[in-house]
Amino acid sequence: MIPELRILHLEMTERCNAACPMCGRTAADGAGKPYLTNELSAADIESWLPAETIAALHYAFMCGNHGDPILGRDTLAVLRLFRRHSKALLLGMHTNGGARPREWWTELANIMGRRGKVVFSVDGLKDTNHIYRRNVRWDLLQRNFHAYIKAGGRAEWHFLVFRHNEHQIEEARALAQREGFAKFIPKKSARFAADSGRFEPLGEDGSPILAPPRDSRWLNSEPERLNALQDAYGGYEGWLDRTPIRCKIQEERSLYISARGHLWPCCWLGYGSVPGERQAVDEFLERNGGLDQLSLREHSLEQILRGPVFEAIQRGWSTNLAGGRIAVCAKMCSTELNLHGSQYN
Ligand code: SF4
Ligand code: SF4
Repeated sequence: MIPELRILHLEMTERCNAACPMCGRTAADGAGKPYLTNELSAADIESWLPAETIAALHYAFMCGNHGDPILGRDTLAVLRLFRRHSKALLLGMHTNGGARPREWWTELANIMGRRGKVVFSVDGLKDTNHIYRRNVRWDLLQRNFHAYIKAGGRAEWHFLVFRHNEHQIEEARALAQREGFAKFIPKKSARFAADSGRFEPLGEDGSPILAPPRDSRWLNSEPERLNALQDAYGGYEGWLDRTPIRCKIQEERSLYISARGHLWPCCWLGYGSVPGERQAVDEFLERNGGLDQLSLREHSLEQILRGPVFEAIQRGWSTNLAGGRIAVCAKMCSTELNLHGSQYN
């Protein structure tokens, strides 16, 4: 499926210091799901990825579906391992920035060197960031990005725009420049189009705290487009069933390893590492030999790539739901919609 692996995405841990309402780790009552405790270790990565595979990578980054890489016990050790195998490899991380002592961040900058970047997800300023990034303390976050940037680390500030923080975009942009961030990127959330059943924090008057921005410049237009597509295809199922798919990772040549040690094409299917998170993926796995087929604790990378699950995923792109297409592939990689990329438009 992937002749030459270029990009590797790792979920180092399922733990997090935050509790963002639209995150997969947050239950409908707002608490963290208690069973999300798995981690990858440096020994795991070393035994699963041959040195030459690491050396041939262009970009290795840590993000994930359920946890923040700064909580991972072996996060720095894995980055050191990558750096040992390749000086040219670009290393990256996406984080809320609100945990670990100052020294950890200095060390992170030292390991990454000039071929590294950390994306800090900071959705507002001192008085608003915690409204979405629940439990992230501004004083610790600021101390940490200071330490990382001061040690020579390259940082980007990604700002998810909501109604409660849209008035602060320019102030945050100016702060990012003063603090030495290399980039400031306002993001248009597409998650208002996501499935129901997630936590919805309410204000004192009972109305939802999280709302899309009023300024149309920061509104993601893809949810609207999805409505139109559903009408054209006779409903959501009809659209999932027949929309053309172009797999994003096949073009990028990337793979995803979940904190449970499963190899997936991408993080969107990678939710399937946690049974119950994505019903469509669970059902697909039942029909194709089960989740263990993707376990790097039981199979080599090569075996999984050539195995039945990867083959069936690929087959699904050119058929319909009854023929084995996974709804997640249609939703994330339809040629008619770009829920992920549109956040950055
Ligand atoms: S910081 Fe990331 S992993 Fe943690 S709760 Fe928020 S979105 Fe989820
Ligand atoms: S969701 Fe499916 S089609 Fe999209 S990148 Fe992942 S494997 Fe490819």
